[in-house]
Amino acid sequence: MVDVRLLAMTDDPEELVCRCARNDYYDGKIPDDDFPTVMNGVGGDTVDEKQATLVKKLMLRGHWGVFEHPQMTLWFRVSRSCMAQITRHRHVSFDIQSMRYVDFSEVDPTSEEDIKRPRTWDQEKVSTREGTRAIEGPVEERRELIDETYERCVEAYNQLVDAGMPKEDARMLLPIGTKVNITASMNVRAALHIISMRGAGDAQAEIQELADGVRDVLEEHMPTTMRIWNENQKAIERQRLSP
Ligand SMILES: Cc1cc2nc3c(=O)[nH]c(=O)nc-3n(C[C@H](O)[C@H](O)[C@H](O)COP(=O)(O)OP(=O)(O)OC[C@H]3O[C@@H](n4cnc5c(N)ncnc54)[C@H](O)[C@@H]3O)c2cc1C
Repeated sequence: MVDVRLLAMTDDPEELVCRCARNDYYDGKIPDDDFPTVMNGVGGDTVDEKQATLVKKLMLRGHWGVFEHPQMTLWFRVSRSCMAQITRHRHVSFDIQSMRYVDFSEVDPTSEEDIKRPRTWDQEKVSTREGTRAIEGPVEERRELIDETYERCVEAYNQLVDAGMPKEDARMLLPIGTKVNITASMNVRAALHIISMRGAGDAQAEIQELADGVRDVLEEHMPTTMRIWNENQKAIERQRLSP
């Protein structure tokens, strides 16, 4: 599993979404009133019910802008391959462990913790959009090939660094599966877009795991939002996050 951890998050993110949304239709000043007063007029008996009513309405109307107010910062560790995919998301700010300044000579080529194995490395067949097909040859031989190649790559990296080559040059020999630590800051709208696009069944395995990690953080900190998101996927699909 991709190791995803929360570094920081806006306090009361769901209250903030609702306050910002209510601001648009409120004749008073939102900062002057407590939350129950701000939610007056929204359907529901309790503040929690009113919050759920409003969040659902926002999502079904495609009023996604209000989800841009809460922010979160995550830390995760993924392969350089997955890094190339996640950093395509332009509304996210990233910091990535440097292969120029950090010494990767301690990378353990036999450990999935340091170098990601291909998803199909121990499978006899693979399912693709075109159907299912066999991967030829014994699984054991393929695993050995991958292990030996990774070991050789790290060994070569170490030889070059030991010989005095700059790390930023020697890194060219490290496999694309080599993992790096990343911090990423995003608003909740961008996070939902990532969950929607990268958590899809046909997304690549590692980025799916990363999207699942982002989803877990949101489920913990924005349970109402995520419950409504999960329950209304079909209707939300018609109100695409990025129409
Ligand atoms: C299955 C799959 C296959 C892919 N294959 C490739 C590939 O082969 N090669 C490749 O290079 N990439 C590939 N990508 C990456 C893809 O092209 C996007 O760069 C990446 O998914 C980011 O998506 P996004 O643009 O929706 O997201 P974000 O950058 O997160 O943007 C979110 C939304 O904001 C809006 N937006 C952001 N910037 C602009 C802008 N400049 N103009 C207008 N609207 C904007 C859009 O509505 C966008 O959907 C693939 C992605 C997937 C899911």
